[in-house]
Amino acid sequence: MNNRLRCPICKMHYKATDRVVLDILNTVIHQRCYNSSSLEILDKGTYKYILDKYSFLNGVSVAEVQSPVGNVIPFPNRNN
Ligand SMILES: [Zn+2]
Repeated sequence: MNNRLRCPICKMHYKATDRVVLDILNTVIHQRCYNSSSLEILDKGTYKYILDKYSFLNGVSVAEVQSPVGNVIPFPNRNN
């Protein structure tokens, strides 16, 4: 069973450390694939960060994408 999300642009499955954006239609797109002339961005960060924060995107096991070494990836543009 493999229902991990894929990028609608490049069709690649996301990896935990991929930098992605979440648009206003709740579509996850690679930051590198996202075209700034398209929809507004709700949030951005690594795929793992987006999944953890927006659990409604699931169907996906977050445990599956967690780093085994537990290293923390900084989010320079994180708004809190
Ligand atoms: Zn992509």
